[in-house]
Amino acid sequence: MKDVHDIIIIGGGPAGYTAAIYAARANLSPYVAEGFGAGGQLMLTTDVENFPGFTDGIQGPELMQHMRGQAERFGAVLESADVSRVDFSSRPFSVWVDEEQHLANSVIISTGASARWLDLPSETRLRGFGVSTCATCDGFFFRDKPMVVVGGGDSAMEEALFLARMASSVTIVHRREEFRASSIMVARVLENEKIKVRWNAVVEEVVGDEKVEAVRVRDTVTGELEDIPAAAMFVAIGHDPNTSLFAGQIDLDESGYVLTDGTRTSVEGVFACGDVQDTIYKQAITAAGSGCMAAMDAERWLEAGISSPEKVSATPSAAVAPSTER
Ligand code: NAP
Repeated sequence: MKDVHDIIIIGGGPAGYTAAIYAARANLSPYVAEGFGAGGQLMLTTDVENFPGFTDGIQGPELMQHMRGQAERFGAVLESADVSRVDFSSRPFSVWVDEEQHLANSVIISTGASARWLDLPSETRLRGFGVSTCATCDGFFFRDKPMVVVGGGDSAMEEALFLARMASSVTIVHRREEFRASSIMVARVLENEKIKVRWNAVVEEVVGDEKVEAVRVRDTVTGELEDIPAAAMFVAIGHDPNTSLFAGQIDLDESGYVLTDGTRTSVEGVFACGDVQDTIYKQAITAAGSGCMAAMDAERWLEAGISSPEKVSATPSAAVAPSTER
């Protein structure tokens, strides 16, 4: 029989690396399948100024490098490969990294979420140079300048309200003439004197060579083009949790997020942390915090003793309250 790991951690962002640090320091020798996108969303950010401990800020990739190195220092084994398949129906659990099967008594899922983009070449080119999906992370760099937010849901309203505190003006570009967001958020946006709305408009191009200078939109009714002067464009058209791997294995909500009670999923011994189960905060620091919680929960669960191998009885879905419910 193959060796059975105490813990396999799937995904290497702030949540996964923090879980690895805690699990390694608990002598559980975690195996981390960090994926080819190791580092997660912070690899796409430049300066991170809101992660406590760095007076002058730190580059996103550098912060991830530190977390990764810290996990390795305590004995975590990290592999930059993608998990292709999992089987949580019996213990020990099976996790296939590429085609190699790994066995584990417990699993921590930290595969994160991916922000949706408009998929325009100019948007891709100017990512990190004024184009962003995180107002909390990047808004501050463009203070006293005009900014654009794309989207019509609660995220777009929230980003616009946050940015209005520092921008000279904020223009929300929305593809319809009605917001999808909750009425209370819409009311706050419409009351805010700094926020304008460009209805019935889609982004054609982000204008600028090395930094954002304007956002070119096309009116969906008249077809006319307009350049909205802006130093930054924040895309807030939703996130997709990276959970396709777990469909049919654990309970997910209707948007695909892992349903958790604390960090426990619907399968005993399988835990989840970070953005893959967080529809509210979505910050590196909250992901790291929940990674610590997942490792401690897994450690306690292992310590309480499991008999393996055995058939896993999934917790009834109703018993797992979505911790992220609004
Ligand atoms: P969302 O509700 O799915 O809204 C996405 C918005 O982006 C929609 O207005 C959509 O337009 C627009 N959009 C999507 N694809 C687009 C594209 N390719 N081009 C242009 N526009 C596009 O996503 P969300 O705002 O991230 O919210 C996700 C969930 O979290 C929601 O349940 C929301 O209520 C919740 N949330 C709550 C809060 C809060 O309560 N404080 C904060 C943030 C998020 P259409 O309307 O035309 O489809």
